[in-house]
Amino acid sequence: MSDSRIQEYQTVIQKMTEGYFPRKFSSEMDVDDIGRLGTALLELSRNLENKFDEMQKLSEVTTHINAGYFLDEILDQLYDSFRNIIPYERIGLAMLEKGGSTLRARWERSEAKQVCLRVGFKAQMAGSSLQKILESGNPRIINNLKKYLLEHPGSTSTKLIVKEGIRSSLTCPLIVQDQPIGFIFFSSFLTNAYKESHISIFKQISNQLASIIEKGKVYEELYQLNIKLQRANARLENLATYDDLTGVCNRRIFNEMLYKEWFRAIRHETAISLIMIDVDYFKNYNDSYGHVAGDICLKKIAETIASIIKRPGDLIARYGGEEFAVLLPETGINAAQEIAERIRNGIQDLSIEHRESLDADVVTISAGVATMKPQNDHDPLQLISEADAALYKAKYGGRNQVVTQVVELTHH
Ligand code: GH3
Ligand code: MG
Ligand code: MG
Repeated sequence: MSDSRIQEYQTVIQKMTEGYFPRKFSSEMDVDDIGRLGTALLELSRNLENKFDEMQKLSEVTTHINAGYFLDEILDQLYDSFRNIIPYERIGLAMLEKGGSTLRARWERSEAKQVCLRVGFKAQMAGSSLQKILESGNPRIINNLKKYLLEHPGSTSTKLIVKEGIRSSLTCPLIVQDQPIGFIFFSSFLTNAYKESHISIFKQISNQLASIIEKGKVYEELYQLNIKLQRANARLENLATYDDLTGVCNRRIFNEMLYKEWFRAIRHETAISLIMIDVDYFKNYNDSYGHVAGDICLKKIAETIASIIKRPGDLIARYGGEEFAVLLPETGINAAQEIAERIRNGIQDLSIEHRESLDADVVTISAGVATMKPQNDHDPLQLISEADAALYKAKYGGRNQVVTQVVELTHH
């Protein structure tokens, strides 16, 4: 008979390890030693069930909270998650700042009609009662805040929450790896809302909770930092691509694109054209009007070229000081010449006064155009030198003109 009871107990213990907690046994209790053992086992079962329940709730809290990333999301989840564990009508979070000397209210949620203690509220830590809580590492219960306020009339934060209708508070320190990071304040409209059991419940998850809150804070800082980095990166990329003064592409990008388009032209057996542009008597312009006026003039010239070159795939670059290059993929000699002529005209039509120009009374440009149908054994630099040669002819032919060069390359 006693054997069968022991067998039942063994089965029950096995089940308990799997999370099942029996409330009664089929056999009789208390009549003898074995029966008393059964009673003790049931008692243990009940205790374990409660513990298990509590653990489950606590683990729900942390999984819930962990689902959020940003501090505010985490805290919103926290507000709902603690419902079954600790009583409150308000939760506030304050974080330590400036190496722990200041405490700043970071977040709050409240059922009060009017929130008086708001985010941003700051308090000095030195000598405060909160400092003592941090030193002890233990949460503090004040179950009658009105009475506390009478005894501590200097406490501004107490004054404010009492004004909100709060009557009891549970102040919990948040500590991550021995470093205090702040506090969670649970508070209630009722006096005597908090018991020692709430403290022990809180202490069971306080480490995890503090870590999660710290994680949210770090994540938020990382996020902000990342945005800053992205902006800096975009600025750098911009600097690496575009010319600062004129906003057109720089020479590095021009070289890259020239090679790309060159090999594309080989694959597709199309023509590629290049216009090299140089401002006429620009040294004289600077000497006469000054460098600042010279810069403004270069900007206007770049704008004018850009207003003429609209086809996607075409590229305008500042090739040198007062030299611009226009790369025109899939463009034959006639179209390229026409575009160069429109640029020359467009700049002349800006009518920028130039009293030191030897050939005109306004700022003008000279342009050299070269067109090629590249083959595998040709080099893109040939296109540049041909356009340069045409530009040279334009200069010595009297400036303010376009000279075109069709390059017929033979196979080696
Ligand atoms: P040409 O008609 O033969 O081209 O005569 P030029 O005076 O334009 O030729 P040169 O190459 O001798 O002079 C170019 C001048 O362009 C020299 C320099 O002072 C000016 N320049 C180059 N880059 C800049 C710039 O970024 N800003 C300004 N304001 N001037 C520049
Ligand atoms: Mg020049
Ligand atoms: Mg020049």
